[in-house]
Amino acid sequence: MNIPKKENLKRVIIIGAGFSGIQIAKKLRRDKFQIVLIDKNNYHTFQPLLYQVATAGLEPDSIAHSIRNIIRKKDNFFFRLANVYSINTTKQKVYTNLGNLYYDYLVISTGSVTNYFGNKNIESHSIPMKSIPEALNLRSIILQNFESASLKKHIEEKKKIMTFVIVGGGPTGVELSGSLAEMKKYVLPNDYTDLKQEYMNIHLLQASSRLLDGMSNSSANQALKNLRELGVIVWLNCLVKDYDGKVISTINNRKIETYNVIWAAGVKGSVIKGFLKKDIERDRILVNNNLRTIRYENIFAVGDIALMKEDDRYPNGHPMTAQPAIQQGNYLVRYLNKILDYKNNIKPFKYKNLGIMATIGRNKAVCDFPLFKVKGFLAWIIWMSVHLMSLVGFRNKTIALTNWIIQYFNYHKSVCLIIRPFKKKNTI
Ligand SMILES: Cc1cc2nc3c(=O)[nH]c(=O)nc-3n(C[C@H](O)[C@H](O)[C@H](O)COP(=O)(O)OP(=O)(O)OC[C@H]3O[C@@H](n4cnc5c(N)ncnc54)[C@H](O)[C@@H]3O)c2cc1C
Repeated sequence: MNIPKKENLKRVIIIGAGFSGIQIAKKLRRDKFQIVLIDKNNYHTFQPLLYQVATAGLEPDSIAHSIRNIIRKKDNFFFRLANVYSINTTKQKVYTNLGNLYYDYLVISTGSVTNYFGNKNIESHSIPMKSIPEALNLRSIILQNFESASLKKHIEEKKKIMTFVIVGGGPTGVELSGSLAEMKKYVLPNDYTDLKQEYMNIHLLQASSRLLDGMSNSSANQALKNLRELGVIVWLNCLVKDYDGKVISTINNRKIETYNVIWAAGVKGSVIKGFLKKDIERDRILVNNNLRTIRYENIFAVGDIALMKEDDRYPNGHPMTAQPAIQQGNYLVRYLNKILDYKNNIKPFKYKNLGIMATIGRNKAVCDFPLFKVKGFLAWIIWMSVHLMSLVGFRNKTIALTNWIIQYFNYHKSVCLIIRPFKKKNTI
């Protein structure tokens, strides 16, 4: 890969421009390091709002931001649009589709991928929602299915096409089912007058006995109540066994006929080849409390991909959410900046839980903060404000806010467009 090496600067390669990697690339000192940021996309994705792209609430470019544009300080900084395949820890090189590159320090911030828990049937037949292209696929599938159902004669056939099963009752599953329920309530009567609302069924399957496992019981119960009020059929204690593209079955022998299973049941670390088996646990790279990998002095991992077990409060690792990723990114900036000053007074990383929240459709959300909990309209306002503030760039914030205000008053999803028709093997 063509990047000139400067003798007086140590080269840091950062793989992944997500929540953690972007912090590091933005803030690392340019007088000490040459920074090379590599990502397979040329944009940063704000994943918490992917479900709004999938359900026609936001355009994809409201939740994406050009990486080259985010990094304002360009001195000693290089971005490369490339897919990293592997690393060689002895030669200190990363291997990509554009060639290889030497590093002095390496930061792995590759995030996570959808976890199908080894079930190939589910992997090939269900619909994931982990990236912008996948969210756009889902949007096309939903709208194409409405179009297709309009053409069917028999009600049973319409219902099968319009039955959506979401697997996973975490924040993603809850938010997506709430948003789909709103499409049923507001988009169908406006845009598809020949389709009755009762043809569309939304099922949410959750393996455990409650929704929103990482949140308080009261928030979980509130979310359940709100979803049921919206008409979502929630199945608890319902572990999925298989899906053949037509029928989804659970271990307690429940069967639902559907062409549309949306998989929101989990993620696993996006590990890059080159590590020993011992360095990886549960598909995450083991790190010490300085986020340094256990075997290699000059390799660090942050965000979803990192598994730090030395924080007493999180013996199984930090949650795979945005806050730990951002905080770890910021910590590593301080750590790396100090490394070259030969300062050893660096405290271990401590995750500060700032709270967790989920929205359940219009006017409703639940927020668990360390000292108090909020639900209902106020929680929804907090949820919107936090997400708006967290979106990257003034343009994205403005467009998202404008869309939300318009939708709030006209009850309509802004972007019910099949721009890129999607054809999956199991769709009609
Ligand atoms: C649908 C969805 C909803 C979510 N909702 C919430 C929420 O409400 N609240 C919350 O806190 N968290 C939420 N999360 C989780 C949150 O988005 C992640 O925890 C966070 O993005 C992790 O940050 P990261 O820096 O580890 O990785 P990411 O932000 O995932 O970034 C990883 C980057 O690495 C790049 N990459 C990966 N592999 C390679 C490779 N081999 N070569 C080159 N580039 C590579 C990717 O393109 C990507 O840009 C959600 C996640 C999803 C999928």
